[in-house]
Amino acid sequence: MKTSIAGYPRIGGLRELKFASEKYFRGEISASDLEAEAKKIRLYNLSLQKNSGLDFIPSNDFSFYDAVLDTAFLLGAVPKRYNELGLPVLDTYFAAARGYQGEKGDVKALAMKKWFNTNYHYIVPEIDDETEISLSGTKPFDLFTEALESGTRTKPVIIGAYTFLKLARYRGTKTAEDFAEKTAQAYSDLLSKLGALGAEWVQFDEPSLVMDMEDKDIALFKKLYEKILAAKGSVRVLVQTYFGDVRDVYNELTALDLDGIGLDFIEGKKTPELIKANGFPKSKTLFAGVVNGKNIWRCDYEKAVGIIDELKRYAEDIVISTSCSLLHVPVTLKNESKLGEEVLKHFAFAEEKLGELSQLKKITASDEPFGTEEFKANKALHSEERSGRNDEVRAKVAALTDSDFTRLPAFAEREKIQKERFALPLFPTTTIGSFPQTAEVKAARKGLRTGELSAEDYETFIRQKIEDCVALQEEIGLDVLVHGEFERNDMVEYFGECLDGFLFTEKAWVQSYGTRCVKPPVVWGDISRAKPMTVKWSVYAQSLTGKPMKGMLTGPVTILNWSFPREDITLKESALQIAFAIREEVLDLEKSGISIIQVDEAALREKLPLRRADWREDYLDWAIPAFRFVHSGVRPETQIHTHMCYSEFADIIKDIDNMDADVITFEASRSDLTILDVLKENNFRTEVGPGVYDIHSPRVPSKDEIKTAIAKIRERIPAEKLWVNPDCGLKTRGEAETVPSLKNLVAAAKEARNENI
Ligand code: GLN
Ligand code: ZN
Repeated sequence: MKTSIAGYPRIGGLRELKFASEKYFRGEISASDLEAEAKKIRLYNLSLQKNSGLDFIPSNDFSFYDAVLDTAFLLGAVPKRYNELGLPVLDTYFAAARGYQGEKGDVKALAMKKWFNTNYHYIVPEIDDETEISLSGTKPFDLFTEALESGTRTKPVIIGAYTFLKLARYRGTKTAEDFAEKTAQAYSDLLSKLGALGAEWVQFDEPSLVMDMEDKDIALFKKLYEKILAAKGSVRVLVQTYFGDVRDVYNELTALDLDGIGLDFIEGKKTPELIKANGFPKSKTLFAGVVNGKNIWRCDYEKAVGIIDELKRYAEDIVISTSCSLLHVPVTLKNESKLGEEVLKHFAFAEEKLGELSQLKKITASDEPFGTEEFKANKALHSEERSGRNDEVRAKVAALTDSDFTRLPAFAEREKIQKERFALPLFPTTTIGSFPQTAEVKAARKGLRTGELSAEDYETFIRQKIEDCVALQEEIGLDVLVHGEFERNDMVEYFGECLDGFLFTEKAWVQSYGTRCVKPPVVWGDISRAKPMTVKWSVYAQSLTGKPMKGMLTGPVTILNWSFPREDITLKESALQIAFAIREEVLDLEKSGISIIQVDEAALREKLPLRRADWREDYLDWAIPAFRFVHSGVRPETQIHTHMCYSEFADIIKDIDNMDADVITFEASRSDLTILDVLKENNFRTEVGPGVYDIHSPRVPSKDEIKTAIAKIRERIPAEKLWVNPDCGLKTRGEAETVPSLKNLVAAAKEARNENI
């Protein structure tokens, strides 16, 4: 059996591409310097893959920014405004990715969106009625040739025609269907050219096939591929799907004149069933994604071999592959020096997954797969009890019953009690939690880490920041105050570090978008709270003011969604363990006199399954209860807030109401407040604070502008349910714009209040 990967990370083991690109953006190195660094990374990856014994080695999985944007450039689907800048191609490309402001003009970047259910973001191609799609770029050819010259015949990887057309945004009257003919032609031309260069296989990535598909989607997919494949000549074509199963299009997919089909056996929960029920064409190669491309744990060979054995009954030619591109895992374990071997042996990043594929190849080739050393070692690893087990936590989670998820009394009664207790004015003003993280704040945290600052001095520093922050908010005239979150680097990392059960890597970066990478914590063991995490800061802040001080926490779903989750227990179990820890903190805050507690669920929507049919069972049915459990034990007069960053929650609005918070603040200003109609239509019960200005920009909103926003919001939201706040935390902002912005916000709220808008 041969082996394949769907793609490999391109940032380099120590984020070399990020640093080189940023230097290029700052004008510190030339385009050819940047090219040279990129080539070094590519050739290194190639040799690594080759040496590992990998059979299908990808090329063109490299990108300076994003593969979808690359495809737009390949197909000539680039909005005029970027070409009109008259810049060299690489700079035109970066202008589309990041915007351009300079002597040649001033254009904003193309939009960016989350890549399916990952934390990677792609650039959304823009197509208007004048767009002429045709094969325009040369990158797949150049990279194929570069690899061939270095001695490797690769499998070029290109975003497929269907996924490309589905992800594009159409600015004019034309739709995807209107571009099908030309797009198919461009892909046919691409195949001929790759064939002429010597390519034997080409991989088209079609993750959009795992989404819910309507008849017209299936028709578009068929139309595209019938035309593309009619001209494929000698090149063999693999359609690679990932992030789920292809239940809506399996039969159409297998009926096409394809040579290979890549299916996901990790996230594709119906993949085995589909094959069993419908068979798999004898003439085609099945690229079986059995090694998880998204998580960092060692592959369980027993499971993987089991799947492959079963598949042998249906498919004659099987290639062992990853479930998706390895783009979504860190590059290599080599640079982790702090975590001990007893931990590291459980991890497999991209480089180590290459080793796993090679071992799986050896195991499956053996007459006695289960007798191989590799198999036995892997089995021993997986049967080993990991450290970090906490039976008390497990027992507590197991003992939860329905009533634990219900806060009493019901919302309306609490609302009355709280209105009396807090006696806040109409349209109370507040912020989302963090205040500007100035260089001074970051330096203090760093000082504590390196030991330059003693714990005592650090503590004094944070207290001083809190004092200043409280004084500032009083001066501004806000109604509900915050302590400013100066002690936190990141809203998830902070809690991860305080809780037992999390691990942190040193260099395990994963590309989030462009040159931005994240380093998610690892859920290693059972989660528990050893001691209070935030109480001392909140209590100190409350002692400085007569106004209510919000306690600030991150919710269990967000903590889990922004970490590498365990695979040996369910997500639901992990979420409930984290919920227990956060609940203990909530109760401690309450006991210490904190009357309002905000539990942020910024990432609640992020892991919503791609298919509607899976939403409830696979996600909402445990994610919403996990949040409810966090606050179900508080007294009626304690007010629970939550905050969310994505306003795309129209379709789960009932579930959000059902989180049963007392107040929710959310980002709304960038989405033109469209969410308000949805709130009104659904008779949203929770009090709301739709962000009245965008904190992602350094611009200061005027008082009138904010008042207009409040007036607009008031058309949909009853006055007694409305809060006034910015749309997110102020951490990334400077003090210079924050203070006047908040002053305008308070002034606008006061006027709106007096005029009874
Ligand atoms: N409380 C957090 C802050 O203010 C919320 C951040 C977020 O929503 N991403 O920074
Ligand atoms: Zn936010």
